[in-house]
Amino acid sequence: MTAVSTAAARRERILQQAVKQGLLDPEASLLAAFVDLDGIAATVSDLYDAFSDSPGALHAFAAKANSLVPVLSELNGLGMGCEVATAGELARALAAGFPPDRIVFDSPAKTREEIRRALALGVAVNVDSFQELDRIAQNLQNRPSRSRIGVRVNPQVGGGSIAAMSTATSTSKFGVPLADPGSRERLMRAFGEFPWLTWVHAHTGSQGCPLPLIAEGVAQAVGFAEQVDAAYGPGRVVGIDIGGGLPVNFAGDEVTPSFTAYVGHLKKSAPQLFADRRYRIVTEFGRSVLAKNGFMAAYVEYTKICGDRPIALTHAGVQVATRTVFAPDTWPLRIEAHDASGTAKPGPLVRQDVAGPACFAGDLLAGDRALPLLQPGDLVVVPDTGAYYFSTPFHYNSLPEPAVHGFRVDADGRIRFTLLRPAQDPWHVSGYDGVAVADLELAAVPAGESR
Ligand SMILES: *Cc1c(COP(=O)(O)O)cnc(C)c1O
Repeated sequence: MTAVSTAAARRERILQQAVKQGLLDPEASLLAAFVDLDGIAATVSDLYDAFSDSPGALHAFAAKANSLVPVLSELNGLGMGCEVATAGELARALAAGFPPDRIVFDSPAKTREEIRRALALGVAVNVDSFQELDRIAQNLQNRPSRSRIGVRVNPQVGGGSIAAMSTATSTSKFGVPLADPGSRERLMRAFGEFPWLTWVHAHTGSQGCPLPLIAEGVAQAVGFAEQVDAAYGPGRVVGIDIGGGLPVNFAGDEVTPSFTAYVGHLKKSAPQLFADRRYRIVTEFGRSVLAKNGFMAAYVEYTKICGDRPIALTHAGVQVATRTVFAPDTWPLRIEAHDASGTAKPGPLVRQDVAGPACFAGDLLAGDRALPLLQPGDLVVVPDTGAYYFSTPFHYNSLPEPAVHGFRVDADGRIRFTLLRPAQDPWHVSGYDGVAVADLELAAVPAGESR
C-alpha cells in the first residue's frame, strides 16, 4: 500500500474502533476529534532529521496550532520547545512541563505584567517593537534575567496567497521593519546600546506562503544579524529564530512540502544560517507538526434535498472549523463518507452540501462536494484538522467543545485511546458562565431515554 492509502485506512480503523468503544455515539457523542500520537512522533522525528546539520536547534512548537496541555506534554516529551503568544499559552506550556528556557514568548502586545513574569521565569522573549524594547530595558534595570532576548524583524519580503496569514508585508503589524527608512539603522543602534539583545527573529507567514518567500524572509533576518556582527564584533548575535509557517497539503494525504524541502530552500537562500554553526537556530512550526496528525468525525443527523441540492446536516460546523466556514475558498477541507460502523462508504458520487449544526446559512463544512450520498446515521470524517480546528473551538450557538482522543497503534495492531480533552456537556454549558445549571428543570426530563 502507498503511504497515502495507509493514512485513509488508518483513519477508517480508528473510526471503527471508536464507534465500537462508544467514543462516537449517535445519541451521546455526536462529534469527536482524534489525534495520532504515533504520527506526531514520526513528524517530529522528520523535523529533527531535516535540521540534522544543526544538532543544537530548538524546535519550539507554536502552541496556538494546538494548545491542549496533553498534546503539548507529548511534544515536550519528544524534546521540542514551545512558542507561546499569550499569557494563556504560556500558562499551558508551563503546565505541560516545558522548562522555561525551552519556551519562546512572541506577541506584538505583551503587557508589562507578561514581560515581568517572562523575564523572571527565564522564558526567551522576542521583542516586537521599539516601545516594547524600552519596557524590557526598564525591567532589566531593576533585575537581571536569564531570558534569551531577541528582536522580531519584519523582512518586508511580501505576502503569500492568504493575506491574513502573511506577516512580512510592508505594512504588517508584526516586528520591526527592516526596509523602512531609518528603521534598520535605529535597530542597529539598539543592538549597540543593549548588550542583552542577542537574537534575531523572523516569521514571514503561514499557510499560503511559498517556500522561497519564507526562506527569503529568513535570509533577510540572517543578513541583519551579519550586519550587527560586522558592526559590534563576531558572536554579537547568538542565534536566529526562523519562525514557522511551513504550509500543509489540505488536498490529499501526501505530506508536502516536507521539512527537508524547506531546509533545502533555506540552504540556498540563507546559507550563512548553517555555516560554521555560527548561529543557534530556533524554529516555531505549528500547522506542519499537527495538521495531518488529527481528524474529526461527526454524525449525520438528517438529510434533505432543497432546490435539487442534497444536503447532509451534521454535527461538525463552525464551532470546530471556523476558518473553513467563514473563508471556504481559502481553507477547503476534505470530507470522507463513512457508514455508522465507521467503514468507508462505497457508491456513486453525488454532489451535496455537508452542513454543520449552527444557525446561519453559511455553516457548511463543504458545499457542492462529490461524495457517496450521505444518510442519517452516517459519519463524516474531516482529515487534516489536528492544527487550528477542534483545538481552537468557537462557542457560537453554545455549541459544546467536543472530546479529543489521542490514539496509538501497538506493534500487534491494538488501538489504544487516551482522553486529551473531555467533551463539554451541552446541557450544562451555563455553568461555564458561572451561572448555576438549571438542574431542577432538567431533572424533570432525565437524559438517556431517547433510544
Ligand atoms: C503562528 C506563528 C507560528 C506558527 O505558524 P505555523 O504556520 O502554524 O507553522 C510561528 N511563529 C509565530 C510568531 C507565529 O505567529
